[in-house]
Amino acid sequence: MATYNKITPEIAAQLRAVVGKRFYEKESVDPNYSHDEMPIYGKYMPEAAVDVETTEEVSEIMKICSANRIPVTCRGAGTGLVGGCVPLAGGLVLCTKRMNKILGYDMDNLVVRIQPGVLLKDLAADALAHGLMYPPDPGEKTATVGGNISTNAGGMRAVKYGVTRDYVLALTVVLADGRIIELGKSVCKTSSGYSLLHLMIGSEGTLGIITEMTMKLIPKPICDVSCLVPFRDVESCIHFVPKIKLANLDPQSIEFMDADIVTSSAAFTGNPIFPEHVKNEDVGASVLVTFVGADDDELDQKMIRLGQIAKEADALDVLVVATSSNKKSAWAARSSFLTAIEADTKLIDEMDVVVPVDKIPAFLIYIRALGDENGIRIRNFGHAGDGNLHIYCCSNDLEEEEFKRRVKIIMDKAYTKCAELQGQVSGEHSIGHAKMVYLRESVGEDVFRLMGEIKAVFDPDCILNPGKVCDSAFSV
Ligand SMILES: Cc1cc2nc3c(=O)[nH]c(=O)nc-3n(C[C@H](O)[C@H](O)[C@H](O)COP(=O)(O)OP(=O)(O)OC[C@H]3O[C@@H](n4cnc5c(N)ncnc54)[C@H](O)[C@@H]3O)c2cc1C
Repeated sequence: MATYNKITPEIAAQLRAVVGKRFYEKESVDPNYSHDEMPIYGKYMPEAAVDVETTEEVSEIMKICSANRIPVTCRGAGTGLVGGCVPLAGGLVLCTKRMNKILGYDMDNLVVRIQPGVLLKDLAADALAHGLMYPPDPGEKTATVGGNISTNAGGMRAVKYGVTRDYVLALTVVLADGRIIELGKSVCKTSSGYSLLHLMIGSEGTLGIITEMTMKLIPKPICDVSCLVPFRDVESCIHFVPKIKLANLDPQSIEFMDADIVTSSAAFTGNPIFPEHVKNEDVGASVLVTFVGADDDELDQKMIRLGQIAKEADALDVLVVATSSNKKSAWAARSSFLTAIEADTKLIDEMDVVVPVDKIPAFLIYIRALGDENGIRIRNFGHAGDGNLHIYCCSNDLEEEEFKRRVKIIMDKAYTKCAELQGQVSGEHSIGHAKMVYLRESVGEDVFRLMGEIKAVFDPDCILNPGKVCDSAFSV
């Protein structure tokens, strides 16, 4: 197990010499740096923090921390859901939020160069202003793009466009010892040795600190339409999902919502957006589908075909979300599902499993039964088009220790079931420290050890984000 040193006054002086007033210690460290958006995984204050502005600063900081064996945890906006940016070993938090510049567009090659602290919403808006689109669309728009790359964030448009990984062309990375390396190039294809670029994507700050990125963009779609397709029950709703793809409709997104989450969302927003009853029947589950196209005719054709297959699948109706304000409200309500759950829940924990699409009903039925058996309220929604389910274990009346005990029973069984169904531990939220034990079970000892060996090549003293992903030697 790695051993670390404390930040002495001498080391603090060296760090302060690099970033000046952007070095914080003791009470001046922002208390939010002790947790991410899932505080049930524990709060750990760092000894000190730095807000960095340049690659060179990051390099100097890492040289000091490497020479003195100080653990360093990189933090973007802290919106992660697996304790990824939480400084388990104390030490230094290195925050990228001030590295928020969009450095420039290359309109001939449709790429943009940015710093890691640029917020997703700012990149999306700026790209649109240039007539372009940044396709990845994770729910939390105030996350940094550096955080998105480090977790390989997915989101609602993944079914058509893929995930963050698919839009990263090149990275500047500072290694644990302070060396600065360049990975990838602004090219459309490559077959040039091991892809360290792709190893860095999704590595959660354990292999290096990303300080600059070149991201791929696409021309912005001309027009789009969203439709809500309600069903009597979850099974028929999910069985409908592959039919949308098979009909060659090329949807941009297919989001799943069951009756419980619709009720929570309506209570939260005070504005019921999604119907709970259609044609005098209770809605058990719905999918919200979006298509993009070159003109209204193309979208009309897609909607007609969607109506045909929905009828064959025994849908209760196909409701077109017609006006742009309705569309905005529908997607805003969908994006706020997690916030809606959080608003009426005292204790919360989550799973972000991904299973083959046809296995979604089996998994949901299983998890609901587990929730009932253990007295835990289950809320779920997800990206039906790619089998990625967000399952929330909630309680308002249990003590925290009892809640954790029961949730562990549920999660142990649920991840075993997920493996049986040929699923994976995380579709997009990553591993952090919260899901490490399940990653280990899922990939097996040989693969888990290999991950640890790769980590040791990049970071032999294990100073980068200790206790995360595959660093099981560090225990808290
Ligand atoms: C309401 C809500 C909705 C969400 N919806 C989605 C969703 O739809 N899809 C999805 O995938 N996620 C979603 N998330 C999770 C979260 O937003 C993502 O994981 C996001 O990518 C985290 O970005 P961040 O800037 O907040 O990173 P942080 O939480 O600060 O860090 C996350 C990880 O990345 C590492 N890291 C951050 N920046 C760097 C860097 N520059 N170099 C190296 N490592 C770095 C950190 O060390 C940490 O391990 C949601 C979260 C919330 C609260």
